[in-house]
Amino acid sequence: MASPRLLLLGPPASGKGTQARRIAERCGVRHIASGDILRDAAAAPTAEGRRIAQYVERGDLVPDEFLVPLVCDVLVEAASTQGYLLDGFPRSVSQAVQLSLITDSASAGVQKVLYLDVAESELLARMLQRSAVEHRVDDTEPIMRHRLQVFADETLPLVDYYDARGLLHRIDGHGELDAVTERIFTALDR
Ligand code: AMP
Repeated sequence: MASPRLLLLGPPASGKGTQARRIAERCGVRHIASGDILRDAAAAPTAEGRRIAQYVERGDLVPDEFLVPLVCDVLVEAASTQGYLLDGFPRSVSQAVQLSLITDSASAGVQKVLYLDVAESELLARMLQRSAVEHRVDDTEPIMRHRLQVFADETLPLVDYYDARGLLHRIDGHGELDAVTERIFTALDR
């Protein structure tokens, strides 16, 4: 696939960030991680930065009017050059609709969606491990539980949304990172 346009969907602590970096490197595409973009924006000493930080710290979705403009230009530019891998965006059906409105006119739409499927009990265990190492403000146990709930309510409907459009590839996200990467690469070659 020349200049592939990919989306990686997965719950918090599914290994999405690590797998996204590996996919981007293998396919030579631009890795666009909305969480990283928002953490940078939240660090700005501005009123907008402080508003964004409040949502991220609570584990709530940042409202579309902040995020969509931050992601949009970089995405359309990447689509016309090396291709992209979206990681963390879209995270709701509303964002997926906005994404298709932005990209369809530019023939820049997503071609494949990879969904990392991991059981909730496993996710919580991984999140607790990660919090001991990374000390992210949104990695305390109550916030993690909230983020899982937000994922179930807002993001999981995207699995059906992209399945209905024939784009979804479901990946078993359990087991070693390298084994999961192999499953992803197999799905990409299909
Ligand atoms: P992540 O690094 O992908 O786990 O994202 C960390 C946090 O950034 C999330 O808990 C949200 O607060 C925010 N965030 C990331 N992506 C989005 C998005 N697409 N829409 C709204 N908020 C987002």
